[in-house]
Amino acid sequence: MWKDLVALWKLTKIYLKGKAGAILLGLFTSIIFSLTGLATPYITRFLIDVIFHANRGDLLLPLLIICGIILIILFFTGLISDYVLVNAFERAKLLMRHDLFRRLQKASVDFLSMQRSGELNYRIFGDTEAIQGFFNQLLIALPIDLLFIVVISSIMTNWNLRMALFVLAVLCLQVLVIIGFQKPLLAYALFQKGKAQFLSGFVVERFRNIQLTRTLNTEAVEADAFKSYLEELMGINVKAFMFRKFSELSVVLINNIWSFGILWYGGRLVLTGQITLGTLMAFLLIAGMLYPRIASVVGSVFSFQDVRVSLYRFLEYHQVMPAVHESPEAVELSLKEGRVVFENVWFGYKPGEPVLKGLSVTLEPRKITAVVGRSGVGKSTLARLLVRLYDPWEGRILIDGIDIRQVTLESLRGNVRYVVQGEFLFSGTIWDNICYGAGSCSKEEIIAAARMANAYDFIMQLPQGFYTRLGEGGLQLSSGEAQRVALARLFLINPKIVILDEPTSFLDPETENAIYQAIMDLKETATVIVIAHRPSTVKIADHIFVLDNGIVVEQGMHDELLGKRGIYAAIYTELYAHRYNL
Ligand code: ADP
Repeated sequence: MWKDLVALWKLTKIYLKGKAGAILLGLFTSIIFSLTGLATPYITRFLIDVIFHANRGDLLLPLLIICGIILIILFFTGLISDYVLVNAFERAKLLMRHDLFRRLQKASVDFLSMQRSGELNYRIFGDTEAIQGFFNQLLIALPIDLLFIVVISSIMTNWNLRMALFVLAVLCLQVLVIIGFQKPLLAYALFQKGKAQFLSGFVVERFRNIQLTRTLNTEAVEADAFKSYLEELMGINVKAFMFRKFSELSVVLINNIWSFGILWYGGRLVLTGQITLGTLMAFLLIAGMLYPRIASVVGSVFSFQDVRVSLYRFLEYHQVMPAVHESPEAVELSLKEGRVVFENVWFGYKPGEPVLKGLSVTLEPRKITAVVGRSGVGKSTLARLLVRLYDPWEGRILIDGIDIRQVTLESLRGNVRYVVQGEFLFSGTIWDNICYGAGSCSKEEIIAAARMANAYDFIMQLPQGFYTRLGEGGLQLSSGEAQRVALARLFLINPKIVILDEPTSFLDPETENAIYQAIMDLKETATVIVIAHRPSTVKIADHIFVLDNGIVVEQGMHDELLGKRGIYAAIYTELYAHRYNL
């Protein structure tokens, strides 16, 4: 509990940094606001005891003026405190969300792909909301509530000790009842939350796999399962609602006990002349103000249980390690030639299961190098290491003689572009998609890139050309078209080192030739690496190396390698047979 409070306090210091002035102003105005609210019982007492009882009609107008002033103070302090506090806490929420987003961007791909659907969303939005709410509770509501409990108790004690003790005793009973109800209420709330989250994940997943559901003819089974989950949730909802109602009514009941008690006991005191009628009325009013404060403190303590869950979840993401570390002395990568050297590289995804086992290879600038190997041999792994999605266990990767761990990630990824197969397009226009990652781009540049990728003609045939929207609510491109848009994106950036994971996998032979030509042009200024899955792709390569069992087993030119009748020849024949169904 204390550990969590300390953790929360640390977050407060991080995300509310520089907001101490605003928080103090908010706290101060909130206290004035609440104190002003305490005037009502005093005014009532004054009205009854002095104006009515002592017949001082002349004081009615001054009282009215005081009431007016109080209203004005209430209005402005309420407004100011809300304004400064909402601003400070909303900013804290914004910073938390942004921070989490930035950290997750650096987290390993494996960690991210392991997260359940909706999880990222829930943590970035839901948990930060809960934590932000608690900042407010901890820094503003709780101190004010505690202060008021003390102030109101002393006022009551001052007015009449016995009556004050009676009110406090009944309030203690009330607190016990609230505490008694809280635990099952919390259990219900947690269950409801978990169930609702599970159900939303269920729906997303089922519709994502709708094709499978349809082809396996399991629609009815899925719908029945969904209904039974809903029924379970409904049962809990009804129970939780009734229990909540019951607890509320019980509290109201006890509330009435003390008001009747005060009336009964206080009434006798009034009749025997020990207190004035005004004091009795004021007592009733001020005692009524005590209850919400106590309920709020108890509520804060219990809501802390809930916030703890959000806190753990938030911190889990907050502390997630970046997939790769950037050295504090990292320098900008400035490419001269673009020669890439893998030097005795060992790497695997799981400890003890290396994929690359001491791989050494040199990729020459202004050449197209093809990487060939059976599926799962580690071709894409090689590309992922070059853009530092992961770091090797052992060995080094050098660009122009500089270890890539010594350069900034931004400059590395700015110079080395890895185009994955079926590269993802974003929802937005084709223009946005081509320009994505390039910073600024002119119309001429975009058109030239689209032409190079052989995408210009099909784009111009679309209803809105470059401004046609893709993705959600927009157009769905065919795989071949999407691939050409992704290639246009690449040609626009014109990077110095390029890795293409089979650039023509979704293309027909004519488009394929055009793309090959574009890649040949690209090599004039760049080091080009293609992961080849098609027999034709290897033919444009100046150099080929064959990967097997974690190392390079053969390398050379196409004809030379074919003549060796080794692994390359076997893979090539297989690819050919597969491509042309031989
Ligand atoms: P290729 O591109 O040659 O088909 P990959 O480089 O994608 O092969 O994968 C090499 C090996 O590493 C495969 O056995 C694959 O199952 C495994 N692998 C790839 N990515 C991951 C990952 N994120 N986690 C665990 N294993 C992986």
